[in-house]
Amino acid sequence: MSFDSLGLCDELLSAIASRGYATPTPIQTQAIPVIFEGKDLLAGAQTGTGKTAAFALPIVQILSEMVLPSKRRSPRALVLVPTRELAAQVSEQMQNYGRRLSLRSTMIYGGVNIQAQIERLHRGVDIVVATPGRLLDHVERNTINLSKIEFLVLDEADRMLDLGFIDDILNIVEYLPSQRQNLLFSATYSQSIKQLADEILDQPQRIEVARRNIAADAVTQLIYSVDRNRKREMLSHLIRKGEWNQVLVFVRTRYGADKLTDELLFDGIKAAPIHSNKSQSIRTRTLAEFKRGELRVLVATDVAARGLDIERLPHVVNYDLPQVPEDYVHRIGRTGRAGEDGVAISLVCSAEKPLLFEIEKLLEYNIPRQTIAEFPQIAVKRGVKAKVTKKSKGSSKPKKKSVQPTKAKPPSKPTKAKSPAKTTTSKRGKAATERPAPKTGRRGSRS
Ligand code: AMP
Repeated sequence: MSFDSLGLCDELLSAIASRGYATPTPIQTQAIPVIFEGKDLLAGAQTGTGKTAAFALPIVQILSEMVLPSKRRSPRALVLVPTRELAAQVSEQMQNYGRRLSLRSTMIYGGVNIQAQIERLHRGVDIVVATPGRLLDHVERNTINLSKIEFLVLDEADRMLDLGFIDDILNIVEYLPSQRQNLLFSATYSQSIKQLADEILDQPQRIEVARRNIAADAVTQLIYSVDRNRKREMLSHLIRKGEWNQVLVFVRTRYGADKLTDELLFDGIKAAPIHSNKSQSIRTRTLAEFKRGELRVLVATDVAARGLDIERLPHVVNYDLPQVPEDYVHRIGRTGRAGEDGVAISLVCSAEKPLLFEIEKLLEYNIPRQTIAEFPQIAVKRGVKAKVTKKSKGSSKPKKKSVQPTKAKPPSKPTKAKSPAKTTTSKRGKAATERPAPKTGRRGSRS
């Protein structure tokens, strides 16, 4: 299958070529014809599968068939996304494709001055990529007209539900015309997504490019069991000995992100935090530095879990396991994108075993366990030069005198882990968990 055969116009084919895409990904092959046919779509797609282009390309092409004079333009496509970072990424693609066909796209999200957004909307736009809260702010101020929307896209819908956007989404839908095409993309497919789909979609075509709730195939996953108070030491060790140059580390709290960043800096590893307490300009700058390879470690809370698209990101570490099992899938989906291999390592302490159990239940398989035989015997405490005192809990080997110059790089496939790494798996039931459905109490606008 080639992009030519999907019925895309020359301008978009050249845009695709300049992005270096040779062939469409499975979600693109399946979704683009459905969107051209004018049908609603319910798409289950793994993260990093190329789903943005799958909806952006046909929407841009259809909208370009009728471009209005600037001042009279009201948005005709609305893409709702869970985070500002995802808004920026989707908007970048919309802008890239749209400008070749004289379409204007803008991005709307909170945490920044609203005035500039109002002015851009006033000048006229065709496509709006928005987070739900700030969009509602515009609706209430009457600074956006949603009555001409022809396309509604819910991107990473499961994440929007996790973040509690259900009421905002349903509220926004009330302002849209009933005649429109609806596209819903979600990496995981829970009871609540089913319910949202019933509310909003009209006889959707269903597409599933990956098995339900499965994590990205290209990602090698590993578990290292470690004492809670030795996680930081193990992380520094993995980064240094593995010579990792770009690693995204997930922690649970904003405080935890700041603290771990300080500790890594203390260990001489260039790191920076990204979370919702940071201003948007700092978040954007930090992310850009990380993408350019100027920052070795990005320490993130789950705000960064979805949508972040970092080319060839080789390593993701779950320093803390996520509270919501679905977030594990999204976190590790930051690596192994678009055909590249990636490694996702989780540092799991005993208190996190129940969370791991839930994650493995969702995945319907066990993640290989591994130990580091050469885990260093030197513990470096904040501001104190360490002594050789601690015995590595993760090691099955006798205590050694000094740090061994071996690489702690994980094997390319966890199941093929060789000595001294020890791989163990446990027996587990197969049923997948479903999160409770939101209480909406509403009906969709299309009946
Ligand atoms: P997405 O799932 O939309 O976030 O896309 C994940 C990554 O895949 C992004 O870096 C895209 O630029 C890239 N990508 C999208 N479509 C293709 C394609 N047809 N061939 C190669 N890479 C692609």
